[in-house]
Amino acid sequence: MTKTFEIAIFQGDGIGPEIMAPTLAVLESMSGLDCAFSFKDLPAGAEHYARTGDALPEASMQAAEAADAILLSAMGMPSIRYPNGQEIAPQLDLRERMGLFAGVRPVRIAKGQPTPLKLDHGQEVDFVLVRESTEGLFHSRKSPDVRANEAYETMKITRETSEKLFRFTFELARQRKAAGRGPGRVTCVDKANVLGAFVFFREVFDGVAQDYPDLNADHTYVDATALWMVEKPESFDVMVTENMFGDILSDLGAGLMGGLGLAPSADIGAQNAVFQPCHGSAPDIAGKGMANPFAMILSAAMMLDWLAIQHDHAPLAAGGTALREAVEAEIAQRTCVTPDLGGTATTDEAAAAIAARLT
Ligand code: NAD
Repeated sequence: MTKTFEIAIFQGDGIGPEIMAPTLAVLESMSGLDCAFSFKDLPAGAEHYARTGDALPEASMQAAEAADAILLSAMGMPSIRYPNGQEIAPQLDLRERMGLFAGVRPVRIAKGQPTPLKLDHGQEVDFVLVRESTEGLFHSRKSPDVRANEAYETMKITRETSEKLFRFTFELARQRKAAGRGPGRVTCVDKANVLGAFVFFREVFDGVAQDYPDLNADHTYVDATALWMVEKPESFDVMVTENMFGDILSDLGAGLMGGLGLAPSADIGAQNAVFQPCHGSAPDIAGKGMANPFAMILSAAMMLDWLAIQHDHAPLAAGGTALREAVEAEIAQRTCVTPDLGGTATTDEAAAAIAARLT
């Protein structure tokens, strides 16, 4: 009997619903996956908070945990905040509650893809940034120590989470090496020249690296890393870093790829995984039908890859590759793309062009 995967859907805020609907249509149009999807809409987000006073209902959290995978578009609106002034960010609550410690942010610039980088003719860029997503400098976000004339945040780095994170990262580098996509190199990005917490982070990294003698392990400081991501992006394979550094470097990676509309991500834990674009709810273009759906579609492709591994289901892996290749072909040729890529297509038209390439 055909297996049905239960996929929890968070439509989110702003452009969220606009990019989610055509992405689900693309997934439903795919043939040869030898499985079916059952999509379940779960309420959460800033607009939901404004209506109900609850940003992430417990029922939504539990349904998401029980699902085979979670697709999330974007949540948050600058105009909707908690009484203390902080924004609504259920995507962070999901990461923390489900222990989604590994934020996987691929940075891929295929031939023909627009990029602000000056690449040699035909040169491609392909590396992955892994962002720790449950602790680091985000640790005290719910209890910041803000006083009349000073404010403090606490950065938390634990051996347990760091070891899991580093093992995940080395395994990823090993998979990429086996697939011919990288030399098998893991770079720990830190600030160990200044902060003791990063000396600890680095020591844990070096300890885990001992278990992977077939791979190269090295370190860079985060400030120099930002420079080198621009100057010599080809020197990276898999990078791993703390939560806040990863937050910032992923947007730099998105900029190198030609914009936030092209940058997918996955937040992966031991049991659950959330797949969502790197971008936010883009209130400045919400409701105009001009949001680029490709980052959302590429995130769905990452979901197919992950489900394939979790369930040992090869047709899903082939589907993930086909979906990624269809988006890359469209970006290279730009026959039907949204205004951020220089086109005039609507969100739905751009997504339909991907579906058409798959048939
Ligand atoms: P943003 O990512 O929403 O937008 C930044 C810029 O990129 C805007 O000019 C926007 O129009 C553009 N952009 C983003 N996605 C695009 C797409 N798919 N197609 C075309 N252009 C796109 O960042 P922001 O404006 O700083 O944040 C807006 C809201 O989103 C805030 O409330 C923020 O907290 C939230 N946010 C949520 C997430 C998430 O859900 N993971 C991530 C970042 C920001």
